[in-house]
Amino acid sequence: MKIGIDDTDSPDGMCTTYLGALLCESLEDEGFKITEKILARLNPNAPFKTRGNAAVCIVAEEKSGEDMKNAFNIACSLVERFSEFDCEKTNPGVVVCSLTSDEDLNNSVPDELFRFYKKALCDFCTIKEAEELLEKYGFLYKGWKNKRGLIGALAAVSAEFDDFTYEILAYRNQFSKGIRTVKKDTIFLAEEKTYPHTWDSVDFENNVVVCVPHTPDPVLFGIRGETPDWVRKARSYIISEEPEREIVYKTNQGTDAHLIDSDISDILDGRSYKLKGFVSNMPVTGEGGHVSFKLTENSGGRSDGDESGKSVRCMAYEPTKGFRDIVRALRPGDSVMVCGSYKNESINLEKIYVESLSDDIIKKPPVCPECKKRMTSAGKDKGYKCRVCNKKSDIPEIIIAGRKIAPGWYEVPPVARRHLSMPLVRKAVHDVCKIQDSKIKSGNM
Ligand code: ATP
Repeated sequence: MKIGIDDTDSPDGMCTTYLGALLCESLEDEGFKITEKILARLNPNAPFKTRGNAAVCIVAEEKSGEDMKNAFNIACSLVERFSEFDCEKTNPGVVVCSLTSDEDLNNSVPDELFRFYKKALCDFCTIKEAEELLEKYGFLYKGWKNKRGLIGALAAVSAEFDDFTYEILAYRNQFSKGIRTVKKDTIFLAEEKTYPHTWDSVDFENNVVVCVPHTPDPVLFGIRGETPDWVRKARSYIISEEPEREIVYKTNQGTDAHLIDSDISDILDGRSYKLKGFVSNMPVTGEGGHVSFKLTENSGGRSDGDESGKSVRCMAYEPTKGFRDIVRALRPGDSVMVCGSYKNESINLEKIYVESLSDDIIKKPPVCPECKKRMTSAGKDKGYKCRVCNKKSDIPEIIIAGRKIAPGWYEVPPVARRHLSMPLVRKAVHDVCKIQDSKIKSGNM
């Protein structure tokens, strides 16, 4: 059976993953065997999220007819005891059902429910949609206040990951709100010893610890990686205040599961996309250090970009730090694929694939053929003029500059990474596995 929970925290405290850890312990105390602990990240643009839009699903063995009801009661009493009910935005939900992810058991997730999970991950769901499905499938469920947490709780029990990673989370007491004591150098050591099998615990380039939050919640630190063994190994290097408890979740973090392949003309606000196109203007650094450029659907065969296709603004915000230099190095006509969420009329860049580079053309006033001095501009759209002999010319000197970037993938640093975004270190391994898989399927290996 699966027990889904969501929406128990507020900006002032708690965390649904912590409640998931408490739930596992309570279920085990009652004799339940836990088989999986799942942390499902949902649409990062969902308007009512507190922090990272996480929902939790605990999978336990069901032995008797009473087990579901007992597990439901345990989950509900924990939610009632620990949720931050005073916060208007905290609207918990609990769902219990007898689904498994095992197709042989004939009760794996029905398509309709899997589609609900995908919608919660990539799009937006309503409370009514969740309630209708819960009624239709006869699941045990309870929603508190406006019951919005039922969306995440149902999505969590309906989730099936075709790609997944793991995170070990260490917690402090639920009521601790102050500074966390975690030895910074031991986190750097943990990453050194286990990278690339774990990632994003630290940001070497910016010399920042990423895996210790600063928010007033029970998470002490969290380490992300490829397997439970790797995250446990990394964790073994970390010296900190004594954690209250720890848990390892299987998760869709770091998988790019939120990205939809799309054309620029089809994008909708609040969804996240992979979009192909051409850079169609020189990148601009705006107020606050944010860097933007325009991505256009087709180049019309021109190497200097094209204004005729559908376009969208792409943004590398200031927190993406050195990634902005990559974006600044793009030039009109570069063929790229961008990944990121579409919000407020721009794509918030998570990573970018530079497929091919155009020539970086610099136009300079020509040298005067008579007196060999460099001409100067004669005014806007008026060509060039020699200040010595007054000779005029309309033709600039064209210099093809060397490019500062090469084709390939570029990403924001760990400090700016979104939970669902796949780090390139993982992507490299992942792409090789996908190629091998397809070769095995087509009998070429
Ligand atoms: P927590 O750690 O408690 O999970 P959070 O940052 O994950 O915090 P929540 O407090 O769970 O955020 O709030 C997110 C709310 O939005 C939940 O009620 C959840 O059911 C709902 N929700 C999640 N994804 C979607 C979606 N795609 N469409 C509509 N509602 C959603």
